[in-house]
Amino acid sequence: MPSLQDEISRRRTFAIISHPDAGKTTLTEKLLLFGGAIQLAGTVKGRKAARHATSDWMALEQQRGISVTSSVMQFPYDGRMVNLLDTPGHEDFSEDTYRTLTAVDSALMVIDCAKGVENRTIKLMEVCRLRDTPIMTFINKLDREGREPMELLDEIEKILKISCAPVTWPIGMGRALRGIYHLIEDRIYIYQAAEKGRAGTVATIDGLQSDEAGEFLGDQAQAFRDEVELVRGAAPEFSREEYLAGRQTPVMFGSAINNFGVTELLAMFVATAPGPMPRATTSREVAATEEKLSGFVFKIQANMDPGHRDRIAFMRVCSGKYTKGMRLFHVRLGKEMRISDALTFLAADRQHTDEAFAGDILGLHNHGTINIGDTFTEGESIMFTGIPNFAPEMFRRVVLRDPLRMKALQKGLDQLCEEGATQVFRPLRNNDLILGAVGQLQFDVVAFRLQDEYSVQATFDNVNVFTARWVYCNDAKKLEEFRAKAYENLAVDHSGALVYLAPTRVNLQLTLERWPGITFRETREHL
Ligand code: GDP
Repeated sequence: MPSLQDEISRRRTFAIISHPDAGKTTLTEKLLLFGGAIQLAGTVKGRKAARHATSDWMALEQQRGISVTSSVMQFPYDGRMVNLLDTPGHEDFSEDTYRTLTAVDSALMVIDCAKGVENRTIKLMEVCRLRDTPIMTFINKLDREGREPMELLDEIEKILKISCAPVTWPIGMGRALRGIYHLIEDRIYIYQAAEKGRAGTVATIDGLQSDEAGEFLGDQAQAFRDEVELVRGAAPEFSREEYLAGRQTPVMFGSAINNFGVTELLAMFVATAPGPMPRATTSREVAATEEKLSGFVFKIQANMDPGHRDRIAFMRVCSGKYTKGMRLFHVRLGKEMRISDALTFLAADRQHTDEAFAGDILGLHNHGTINIGDTFTEGESIMFTGIPNFAPEMFRRVVLRDPLRMKALQKGLDQLCEEGATQVFRPLRNNDLILGAVGQLQFDVVAFRLQDEYSVQATFDNVNVFTARWVYCNDAKKLEEFRAKAYENLAVDHSGALVYLAPTRVNLQLTLERWPGITFRETREHL
């Protein structure tokens, strides 16, 4: 029997960050395939098909139903236990996407070699930065004509402000792609386009200076050897310490769809990615290896089963071990709960399990008592920090069809806020209710659930808000002055915290400049 410490230290919990269409779904599928969880590969595809369905409720429901099973994918690989957490993208992009990144120990960034660093990646990277999450980079679609590898690294360094350490280097690209050269192993992996059913075993050549390599590279040999010399001179060598500190990203190249470079990526990942990291709480740091269980809720998924109003709260286990039937202390409510039927996510389906360890994710059945950010322990009154609300980027004013349903509307919105499905802002100057989200689909979900669960018919109007910033100031006088001057644009959020709703980017900029004594934050902690 492996010890508790062994079980914990072999966990590798991560998420993929990328811009839509860079190849996240394809890579996920291939990681699962090579990770041995082959039966899961179809699940990812299923989700993808659903994603492109029309956005009626059936599709929405189906999409969300499928995505819970693929919300967390666990598979053993090379002695490790890998947990891959899905970050909803495309239309289902939401605050969940951001918060999932607070529940991982590292991230894998996928970049399209023709497109380089794109918007969504920049945003997701900012979220990773909040905790200095280590990032590994996979530059995908090498089978297509892309940009110069050196140019891509420069762009990553410049835009994402992280140093790049190439681990593999492409030998050609697009139609001229011959393979990749592994700088640490000093080995060439020869490219072959994937054929159906072939698990991508590739031929290799040891030693760039070897005769065999010379023969393989032919008249390109000298040029490529020179290029590698140049790369070694210009780019830093991979340093695990720098990577773990979030200052350096190891970069690997490949083509997910052709199964190329994926095994090498997985090998690098399990060998170097961090295990469960310590986590901050309101009073002390919790080490993953502590005997007692603790964890926090980072996501709540509603209506998995329309017949049951079933909600699943996803809890990241931060320390210790879960065993079936154990009692957990719900810190916010100060109450003990018996957890007999938590879900874990090994293999194809969510399933009941007897155990889970720090680094794993548990799905808890939730009947309205669990909120985003809640902490569970075996009795200690600590609360995990760093599970914030993120400034929404889309805003709508709620229009209630039947004014008599106001109370039901308020109740519904309260619940949806606590589940993290949306954020509500109440302007100081009027009685409007303004919803905020980071993804369009969030509004559709809110409208549907208000109708379905609270019998409230609401529609949404456009509203003149560009973004939100939480307002902090220790100087009461200064804050009062700001309140009076900026009254028109101020609101309170669900928790009563003061928020500045900027009508335009320019207005936000001017306000930041005019009020240096006031702190404007893009996140708010759930405390
Ligand atoms: P996601 O939106 O990031 O999940 O991206 P997908 O995995 O859905 O990929 C987007 C598109 O790129 C799909 O049409 C894929 O088939 C394609 N794609 C993914 N990986 C590769 C690759 O390595 N090479 C090429 N040529 N296409 C790829």
